[in-house]
Amino acid sequence: MIIVMQTGASKQELSEVKKRIRELGYKPHVIHGATRNVIGAVGDERGKAVLQTLQSMPGVENVVPILKPFKLASKEVHPEPSEVEIVPGLKVGGSRFLVMAGPCSVESEAQILESARAVKAAGATVLRGGAFKPRTSPYSFQGMEEEGLKLLALAREETGLPVVTEVVNPRDVELVARYSDMMQVGARNVQNFALLKMLGQLDKPILLKRGMATTIQEYLMSAEYILSEGNTKVILCERGIRTFETATRNTLDISAVPVLKSQTHLPVIIDPSHATGHAHLVAPMCYAAAAAGADGLIVEVHPCPEEAASDGPQSLRPEDFAAMMAKLQAFVEVAGKQF
Ligand code: PEP
Ligand code: MN
Repeated sequence: MIIVMQTGASKQELSEVKKRIRELGYKPHVIHGATRNVIGAVGDERGKAVLQTLQSMPGVENVVPILKPFKLASKEVHPEPSEVEIVPGLKVGGSRFLVMAGPCSVESEAQILESARAVKAAGATVLRGGAFKPRTSPYSFQGMEEEGLKLLALAREETGLPVVTEVVNPRDVELVARYSDMMQVGARNVQNFALLKMLGQLDKPILLKRGMATTIQEYLMSAEYILSEGNTKVILCERGIRTFETATRNTLDISAVPVLKSQTHLPVIIDPSHATGHAHLVAPMCYAAAAAGADGLIVEVHPCPEEAASDGPQSLRPEDFAAMMAKLQAFVEVAGKQF
């Protein structure tokens, strides 16, 4: 249910309503609007009619059901686009366009430092790099683990770029949280509900990738798992879905951007690297993402793609990334956003 408070309702009235929601066995989530506050009351769908009784409480204007199965992710609860702060002074969503870039995996100190310097020089404002890698084959490189996290922290210290890195196993949430500014949930873990619930208890941005066979509704339900635990900092990422097509690694569902934006207030970014699997296809998909209204990109860049431990064929060379970034500017402006 959405409890719409009156314009000018007092703090006391708001806290009384929250208290009553809890007494009824639901969780209140307050969304502070420009003119009024609304409270999303979420919990067991079966008995929710009881929340209608809040209508008569002082300060309450209206009580309306949330029609979508995802509640806190929905635009019904939060009609304005959300801006998610990654670190103080750096936000994604709203009118900002954010570019995250770096190698698929952290491989060595020299590799991550060189990557970080290069992507920063080209205009990226977040460094990516995997320390725990979810690989299709158990015989493939699995990542440098904590050593890789330490190297990411070193690169952040040296360049000032915040870092995003993947957490694969719920067991490692605390460890990855200690070293990173944003935590990535990979496509293969989009429905790892135990992991999502743990991440929901952190006060850290979560980059939630769409699964390769996840419908938009299932995807938003996964976001809801994080939001329902109290973490409001969720960023969605379309990274290609599996289709019959083999010319590309996946099929970039570019329409997911406007579809998601019609249903959720959460920021939506595109990963053109995993979507296409080929470096020469990355730049056009970056431009398409900006034109479609995405809030940003996450792009794989490697100083020497032929030597990459993972995803070399889809990784841009630093100079190609810089050329893409220069051309991207115009698309971002046409979409009404800025870096
Ligand atoms: C990655 O970002 O390197 C990755 C493994 O992505 P995805 O989960 O989208 O395959
Ligand atoms: Mn990768």
